[in-house]
Amino acid sequence: MNKQQLLINGAFVDPCTNAWYESFNPFTGKPWTLIPRAGKDDVDRAVAAAKSAFTYGSDWRKLTATARGALLRKLGDLISQNAARLAEIETTDNGKLFAEMRGQLTYIPQWFHYFGGLADKIEGRAIPIDKPGVLNYTREEPLGVVAAITAWNSPLMLATWKLAPALAAGNTVVWKPSEYSSASALAFGELFEQAGFPPGVVNIVTGFGNEVGEPLVTHPDVAKIAFTGGDKTGEHIYELAAKGIKRVTLELGGKSANIVFDDADMDEAVKGVVSGIFAATGQTCIAGSRALIQRKIHDEFVEKLLALAKNARMGDPLELTTQLGPVATRPQYDKILDYIRIAKQEGAACVLGGAAATRPECGSGWFVEPTVFTGVDPKMRIATEEVFGPVLSIIPFDEEEDAIRIANSTVFGLAAGVWTTSIRRAIMMPERLEAGTVWVNTYRAHSYMSPFGGYKRSGIGRESGIEAIREYLQTKSVWIDIAGNAQNPFVMR
Ligand code: NDP
Repeated sequence: MNKQQLLINGAFVDPCTNAWYESFNPFTGKPWTLIPRAGKDDVDRAVAAAKSAFTYGSDWRKLTATARGALLRKLGDLISQNAARLAEIETTDNGKLFAEMRGQLTYIPQWFHYFGGLADKIEGRAIPIDKPGVLNYTREEPLGVVAAITAWNSPLMLATWKLAPALAAGNTVVWKPSEYSSASALAFGELFEQAGFPPGVVNIVTGFGNEVGEPLVTHPDVAKIAFTGGDKTGEHIYELAAKGIKRVTLELGGKSANIVFDDADMDEAVKGVVSGIFAATGQTCIAGSRALIQRKIHDEFVEKLLALAKNARMGDPLELTTQLGPVATRPQYDKILDYIRIAKQEGAACVLGGAAATRPECGSGWFVEPTVFTGVDPKMRIATEEVFGPVLSIIPFDEEEDAIRIANSTVFGLAAGVWTTSIRRAIMMPERLEAGTVWVNTYRAHSYMSPFGGYKRSGIGRESGIEAIREYLQTKSVWIDIAGNAQNPFVMR
């Protein structure tokens, strides 16, 4: 099997540990490549390279903001040229549909173009200060070395949301991808050199959370942690970062509500709810894993939903006709089946699926049948905890206020969907829902231009949009005396 290498200081190198681990193809359930199992010494090397690249006077720091932006745009072009190849690696490594990964890869360049364009629009302010004879202005400066730590479900897209604004702002980066999806990260790493980034600006260290992630988070030369993953890991990273008074952006999990009112276009809403939970086999942070259906239309809605969901084509994620691929990792597969068991024990009615998929087209892969529970009580674990799989909980409601109360009743606040033809509801519901993103009559829409992030336990900070670049900047206030006034040294000016 091909032995991959780490990217440190512009070169691909073996890990100091001299250890590798097998990465598995979820469709075959078999290992297909060997990923470096890096350790603390590799983290130290990578952070040292990133720190050196950030040092005042380095090739990176000498670049004008316009030149920095041009490098990012060049990288975007290279990603476009390599989109299909990178998407195939992602699908082989994490089992998500090739159609979805290729769609992401052809869209990812937009982030590098957009943030490349923003690089030379980072401006300070001249403040008409209330002190005579003084010029006061601000500078927006990069933070230093940023640690990017990402999840396995959309490996390059999640990294892009961090790398594009971090680099546009002038920072350097050490990136630790998920242990389950590192192959595409290392292939992506080759493009930085081709684009002409100076060595050390982007470093990639692969391995396990406790062996690589933790030394990275706690490294004294890391200024900020940009993290995507589960809320428990996020909480732990937040605690570690607090000890070092480090900045964080946390993009965590969700239990998003997709709310369907009786005035909705039923067919569109059915498609929206199906896309919210079964696209990507439910392995998205924004999965609409709770469908809140107004009681008057509940039975008709469920009937239509089941008709669409039960015909979803499962199979090889590389095939363009496949609609539901395998689950990305064996632990995740076990976790989903556990939650299905728990839901049944809690008394929810399983009206579709509810088991591992053993259809011939699923081969030896880690497949779970698209699963729907009705009669779900909002307090059940299946309705409050993130499953991260193709499992939908349907909860009936009567009045608007009930829908709002149930939707807001979990600890999460990542996203929500609203299906209605009422203009009043279309405006009122986004105001009342505790979620960082609200979609009305659509679901799973994303753009490099629009900020994304969580309320409550779904996270801190925003990715994408102008808001994202602020997460990688700090403000310096500069005071210059221009009057030459003698100052009384014993009083504040
Ligand atoms: P995890 O929290 O398990 O892991 C995320 C990353 O953190 C991985 O790279 C992991 O390493 C690393 N990690 C684990 N432990 C530590 C540690 N002690 N110190 C530092 N790093 C550590 O999440 P998953 O990978 O399972 O991803 C699924 C989760 O991600 C879901 O909850 C999902 O909702 C969330 N997510 C959120 C998104 C958002 O934008 N809000 C988008 C996509 C996913 P390793 O796995 O290699 O051990």
